[in-house]
Amino acid sequence: MSAAVAPQPAIDNPWLNAQRQFDEAAELLELDPALRCVLREVRREFTVRFPVKLDSGHVQMFEGYRVQHNLTRGPAKGGIRFHPQVSLDEVKALAMWMTWKCALVDIPYGGAKGGVIVDPAQLTHRELERLTRRFASEISVLVGPDSDIPAPDVNTTAEIMAWIMDTISMEAGYSIPAVVTGKPLEIGGSEGRPSATGRGVTVVALETCRRLGRDPAATTVAVQGFGNVGGVAARLLTEAGFRVCAVSDASGAIYDPGGLDIAAVLEHHTRNRTVAGFPGAEQLTNAALLELPVDMLVPAALENQITAGNAARIKASLIVEAANGPTTTDADHILEKRGVVVVPDILANAGGVTVSYFEWVQDLQSFFWEEAEINQRLERIMRRAFAQMCGRSDEHHVSLRMGAYLVAVQRVAAATTVRGIYP
Ligand code: NAD
Repeated sequence: MSAAVAPQPAIDNPWLNAQRQFDEAAELLELDPALRCVLREVRREFTVRFPVKLDSGHVQMFEGYRVQHNLTRGPAKGGIRFHPQVSLDEVKALAMWMTWKCALVDIPYGGAKGGVIVDPAQLTHRELERLTRRFASEISVLVGPDSDIPAPDVNTTAEIMAWIMDTISMEAGYSIPAVVTGKPLEIGGSEGRPSATGRGVTVVALETCRRLGRDPAATTVAVQGFGNVGGVAARLLTEAGFRVCAVSDASGAIYDPGGLDIAAVLEHHTRNRTVAGFPGAEQLTNAALLELPVDMLVPAALENQITAGNAARIKASLIVEAANGPTTTDADHILEKRGVVVVPDILANAGGVTVSYFEWVQDLQSFFWEEAEINQRLERIMRRAFAQMCGRSDEHHVSLRMGAYLVAVQRVAAATTVRGIYP
């Protein structure tokens, strides 16, 4: 087996970015060449093409993916994304990041991800349900509470998780709540799951301020993306004392240097389905939001937002990556040279999968916990992982991202080594 790793072109392909991040960590860890070959590839990539009957009676074909990067430490875990720009390479990257994320917070899962190339805004509610159920049926050969457990991601909701749970359960002939997380409470969802990712972002932001000797009350923030992660993060960061001055969604950004009234922005968003047009705030583009003169930037939308093209113009001195893969590796190096502290996605947004793990455990035991206990356990896990990441980063004089990768990759490598290569 050869471990030779060809230098990758500096392009914004998330999968190449994910592999480059892994390669850097493997180099620092002086990882065994055979292990490198195993861990830098995905284990299974599954493409499905399936028909959906539209309300008009026409049949439209869709393409979707479920990718399992690694299963060494436990069942595969990862969300399902509905977006017109979904690609196999994107899903592969997201699956690999899930492996490192689960290892970093030390929950017994491997990494997976799924996606369907679709703009759900173009479908009716009934069409969306039929698409979801058919996709769930197509990937049912992979998913299951012991093998691969999906969850929400971009444009997928608790209701969509309920359809997936119901489809898998109907095919089996009995209810299998633990097959999916992020479900409604009525069918075995967990207290605290809808806000878990944003809560984890907030815990990590507070820990980072403590480490850097910064006062949250004197820290201005811009949040890109106002969905499950960005909307909750903006609210909880405000509650924690940060001054959130700018937020955005796919339609544009709003900015008030004196600080936005996030409760009012949330109401505006509920009414209008966008933050754009919020009265009294300056209207900006998403690109402009990233370059605002704020102290902390929280990208909470999609990949490749901070690239070699804009990294030199980012004014925030701290970036907390709530989204997966918002910073390309080239941008990362530019930011590092400029002294910008980047708290990596695999830690910053790990609150979601951590409470998904709690949901799965509760479903398997049919024994449910209270929200206070869930939030307490979540905070403990996030703080522990934060400290371990900082420890490795300080020890090796590397970025927080590399510190996080050193912890995570070493855990997966150690598990692979003790299990051995089958047969
Ligand atoms: P979501 O669909 O709830 O929200 C996405 C938000 O991003 C929306 O406000 C949308 O308008 C906005 N957006 C889309 N395209 C944009 C663009 N080009 N510019 C600016 N904003 C844009 O999705 P989410 O669950 O909040 O996921 C956001 C990110 O967080 C993704 O990277 C996802 O992988 C990651 N993440 C989500 C979870 C979770 O629990 N949902 C957990 C970990 C990581």
